[in-house]
Amino acid sequence: MVVLKTVQEIEKMKLAGKISARALKLAGEMVEPGISTEKIDEAVSKYIKSQGAASSTLGYSGFPKSCCISVNNQIIHGIPSNSCILKSGDIVSIDISANIGGYHGDNAYTFACGDISENARKLINATKESLQKAISVAKVGNRLGDVGNTVEEYVKERGYSVVRDFVGHGVGTSLHEDPSVPNYGKPGHGLRLREGMTIAIEPMVNEGTSEFITLDDGWTIITADKKLSAHFEHTVAITSSGPLILTDPT
Ligand code: MG
Repeated sequence: MVVLKTVQEIEKMKLAGKISARALKLAGEMVEPGISTEKIDEAVSKYIKSQGAASSTLGYSGFPKSCCISVNNQIIHGIPSNSCILKSGDIVSIDISANIGGYHGDNAYTFACGDISENARKLINATKESLQKAISVAKVGNRLGDVGNTVEEYVKERGYSVVRDFVGHGVGTSLHEDPSVPNYGKPGHGLRLREGMTIAIEPMVNEGTSEFITLDDGWTIITADKKLSAHFEHTVAITSSGPLILTDPT
């Protein structure tokens, strides 16, 4: 069931979004050669707590950390650890969700560590742009198929594939609510967007195949061909005056 939010509820979600976005910004500023993903997670955890909020990923179905950090061929759900030391050339997808006052925010960004290859840069830029394009069509009256198709077409034109088995989602009093928000679809098809819907749009874009493998840790999702993957996400409210990004750090 899709839960529509009131203007007052969206105001509460702005705070959860802001804390999630500021934590993500802080995490991104720490990305540099030689740091462990554990260290970044520790800082994220500390920051979220300092704001009176809680990480939505910590303990989610048993997930052990306060954020997901997925490096290079890891698509999503990478577990921060002391043994994962970043090096120059890595691309680092960090996904952070925080909740406060009963509402969640959810956002992700792929950061460059040191000097990255031209191919990696292009993948990151295309993924980031596909999210911006998708947000721009997340308007009252359009459909989820318009949003998903926008991502899919944009990245396919550049030779990439979208992950189909993992999708965006509604966000609100739960981290994951209806509806599912796929990164593919047919224009003019799917659920019609209505005022008060709050959704996480999150393109996961692969350099090669869209197929994936789950690592033995039970969480980390990697590309089946070991090529790179990038991930960007915002929590967006559908309002009468257009899409409103709730995961805004400012
Ligand atoms: Mg999400």
